[in-house]
Amino acid sequence: MHVVDTLPAPRFDNRFVRELPGDAETGPRRRQVEGALWSAVAPTPVAAPQLIAHSAEMAGALGFDAAAVASPAFAEVFGGNALLPGMQPFATNYGGHQFGYWAGQLGDGRAISLGEAVAADGRRWELQLKGAGPTPYSRTADGRAVLRSSVREFLCSEAMHHLGIPTTRALSLVATGESVVRDMFYDGNAAPEPGAIVCRVAPSFIRFGHFELPYARGDVALLRRLADFTIDRDFPHLAGQGEARDAAWFAEVCERTARMVAGWMRVGFVHGVMNTDNMSILGLTIDYGPYGWIDDYDPDWTPNTTDAQGRRYRFGWQPRIAHWNLVRLAQALSPLFADAAPLQAGLDRYAAVYAACDRETIAAKLGFATCTDADVELMQRLHGLLQAGEVDMTLFFRGLADLDSQAPSLDVVAGAFYDDAKGERLRAEFDSWLRRYAARLADDALSADQRQARMRAANPRYVLRNYLAQQAIDRAAAGDTGAIGELLDVMRHPHDDQPGREAFAARRPDWARTRAGCSMLSCSS
Ligand code: AMP
Ligand code: MG
Repeated sequence: MHVVDTLPAPRFDNRFVRELPGDAETGPRRRQVEGALWSAVAPTPVAAPQLIAHSAEMAGALGFDAAAVASPAFAEVFGGNALLPGMQPFATNYGGHQFGYWAGQLGDGRAISLGEAVAADGRRWELQLKGAGPTPYSRTADGRAVLRSSVREFLCSEAMHHLGIPTTRALSLVATGESVVRDMFYDGNAAPEPGAIVCRVAPSFIRFGHFELPYARGDVALLRRLADFTIDRDFPHLAGQGEARDAAWFAEVCERTARMVAGWMRVGFVHGVMNTDNMSILGLTIDYGPYGWIDDYDPDWTPNTTDAQGRRYRFGWQPRIAHWNLVRLAQALSPLFADAAPLQAGLDRYAAVYAACDRETIAAKLGFATCTDADVELMQRLHGLLQAGEVDMTLFFRGLADLDSQAPSLDVVAGAFYDDAKGERLRAEFDSWLRRYAARLADDALSADQRQARMRAANPRYVLRNYLAQQAIDRAAAGDTGAIGELLDVMRHPHDDQPGREAFAARRPDWARTRAGCSMLSCSS
């Protein structure tokens, strides 16, 4: 593939392919790959790559200035038609548990890593194209991605980052100029849609499933090599040796996973497909597919129509599913340990850190200096009311920051109710909750100003509601790609009031309640 040397490119140091065993065969022939963690495979060129959005922060971190981003060569590279000097494209080999069941080899079926860039500040960023064509892991699929799902991944990666929640990032969104055929609801109505490619970026794309596959195949030597590599490259701060170091590593994975999920629960994010192949070893939110954001507070809600039956990945179950996934990881790592105690200790760490984060979230969302047992109960009671009253989670907590604790009134959250009749019926319960809350505030160490600042920093004003992303997709599909940049710009400062941008903080409009892409999403992407 042709190499462009006209762009100021970062330096590449491709440790994954240099230090870990690769597949002897190159190219995209679909197959089972044994004894190897990656296969060399180049992106398949596209007809007319055109950059339609990018993250200025991520471009800057990688050393691409505005002129570089605007040049045709940038779209060529990040559309999969050319490489930068030092890039070595590859797809990785992993397995996973999907919806509770072992699925065997999965792998990067439509993700191709270009290489590991080392930024000027020394940070390592792997660059990975999603939708760049077939790999040995594509199974029966085409290796491509459609515009709608690429817009969603691009926007949400950056939005999560700006919310302070660990996530993979997105550098660019390139339209391919080609169409991709998808059956959006698996109902026999396949249709061509515009194709696109996201370049996502992370220090590491290693997943739980990378460890599960060699474990399932009994390849302990490969498992050992991968664990050593991961600790060395992605957890270099871990001291110690042998089993003590491995135990510290697993405990840190558990801790990071707990912090990530606690972040999701704080802002109302539902991942939608928490399969173990979609769990990052660094505790980053990864693989933005049929994710969604809570509008009316409902712990039983899942955006994923593919999961509509069991609703395994519903909002309220995310903490326990993350734990279930960590148990699968612990099992995969078990050949590296003489007994189960260190692994159990890691899982216990998950529970302890999650519980601590949950209390921190309660204190921050309600504006208390610290969280007591009674506060936990107060929050549970509120959650029950929000669900019964069909109340918008984001608007309610944001509005609550404006409460005058001397004269508490539901007026500050009036706009958060989706169904006035339901709100009216629960009026007395809400009022009594509010009185209890106001009394609790009177007892708290924080001043009113401190409380408001704490609440605003924990309760975003702007989240990437499903309908907002869908509006940007509709406009982009009609040729107005500026909508994506505009929405990204709002999501850059989610906790700030942004005068003139009130529309982006509006609750879900009625038309979006049942519309595809707004309330229902499938894995078809
Ligand atoms: P996901 O549900 O997106 O996490 O994907 C599960 C598996 O299916 C992963 O191995 C993906 O690489 C693969 N996959 C999903 N979509 C495609 C596609 N269009 N082409 C090839 N592989 C795909
Ligand atoms: Mg995946």
